[in-house]
Amino acid sequence: MAETSPPSDPITVMGAGLSGLAAAIVLAKAGKEVHVHDIRADSGARFDGDFQALENWSMDEDFFDQLEAWGFDATSFKSTAFSVVDLIHPDDEITQAKSDGVAYRIVERGTSEHTIDQAFKRMAIEAGATLHYKSRISQKDADIVACGPKDTSAIALGEIFHTTHPNHIAFQLNDKLAPGAYSYLIIIDGVGLICTCLWRKQKKSDRFLNETIACYQRLYPEIDIHPIKRVGGKGDFTLNGNYTDPATGQHYVGESGGLQDFMWGFGMRMAVWSGVLAAEEILGGTSYDKQVRRHLLPYVRTSVANRWLMNRVGDRMFKRMCVNWMKDQKRSGNGLRWIGRLFRPTLFKRLVFRMTSPFMLKRGKGPTRPLRLPFRKAKARDNWEQSKEADLAKARWEAVRRGGGHVSFASDSEGEAQEISAISS
Ligand SMILES: Cc1cc2nc3c(=O)[nH]c(=O)nc-3n(C[C@H](O)[C@H](O)[C@H](O)COP(=O)(O)OP(=O)(O)OC[C@H]3O[C@@H](n4cnc5c(N)ncnc54)[C@H](O)[C@@H]3O)c2cc1C
Repeated sequence: MAETSPPSDPITVMGAGLSGLAAAIVLAKAGKEVHVHDIRADSGARFDGDFQALENWSMDEDFFDQLEAWGFDATSFKSTAFSVVDLIHPDDEITQAKSDGVAYRIVERGTSEHTIDQAFKRMAIEAGATLHYKSRISQKDADIVACGPKDTSAIALGEIFHTTHPNHIAFQLNDKLAPGAYSYLIIIDGVGLICTCLWRKQKKSDRFLNETIACYQRLYPEIDIHPIKRVGGKGDFTLNGNYTDPATGQHYVGESGGLQDFMWGFGMRMAVWSGVLAAEEILGGTSYDKQVRRHLLPYVRTSVANRWLMNRVGDRMFKRMCVNWMKDQKRSGNGLRWIGRLFRPTLFKRLVFRMTSPFMLKRGKGPTRPLRLPFRKAKARDNWEQSKEADLAKARWEAVRRGGGHVSFASDSEGEAQEISAISS
């Protein structure tokens, strides 16, 4: 059981995702006996082969250099670096944001060997940690809580497909297809993903994915799409009062600690980083709570301010953002400068955060005194019938589904997120 003084061996981690495994690797490498318990059958089982982006623009240091400095092998999972992205404006104009360096890297989530989840699992085992899958423990017995999302503030829905099209990335700001958020297309080595993010709770949410697929087909007619499965997930956006429970000394890491970008849902970098910081405190280093407040919280607060600004905008403002992004690229010669500034803490964003967070966030229950971002209500403009082209995308998927195509995530008619992949008790 956790103590207020540093826990003695064995150390118990609840959750074998990125944050829990990162903590376990650092602790086990330092010679600690570590046990990691996960309710699912494997690390990455929360995901189903989805592509995710490790952004590289919000901080000066390259994330892979950070990984190496913490002792993780960044070559042990497949990652594909990109320096260009198609930016699709709400009026369908396509421009390109470019950078001289690595703008972001795409990794796969899931249980396949080359995923980032499985690489962290291998590193944890090699370091000497013991992993217990399909294992449910009481939260009070954990020294580190790393369970990922609990509630739902937003969902993402995607279709994975085979294609002969070369590697390509597109990012779209369009309030109809991705209410309050964004959609994206990722193609890596013959496998594609079209995904839309719903930052407002919708009825019949599949129509947003069907319409997004139809839109990408119209904009990129050369891309052939042969659906394999439909995937998705939920995001839980919380801002914690404590990162370490003062009564028990338990550390809350990754999404369990609310360490995720509220604006666009980037969370992997903070998940790994927070796992490392929690392990460092246990090994006698600086207070985890202090380190989170110093290194990560300013970014989370900035993202709350960004989210408030995004909640207010529709396509007219999205268009202005795209235009400003491209103008800044032309002026500076760097397509990452504008987006990097959007993510970085500033005095203005601190003021926006202070003024708006009391209205946006609702006090939740629990030892970390979380402030939760509720899943926002749909707007009148979110009510539309899908087009004929979207009907076709739906029919194509239904045919694949009848032939055994797998769905790993759904949201019901009330918009409640539901992970279909089995969690055994
Ligand atoms: C569809 C989607 C797309 C995303 N795209 C991106 C992206 O492009 N870039 C990015 O940076 N981030 C992205 N994110 C966010 C990112 O996935 C998360 O922030 C990150 O995985 C959080 O890591 P974690 O360790 O907190 O949780 P996870 O990696 O989810 O791990 C949590 C683990 O805890 C386990 N668990 C849950 N409950 C219990 C329990 N009671 N007991 C024991 N174990 C438990 C789960 O089974 C899981 O293995 C996306 C999220 C979703 C849903």
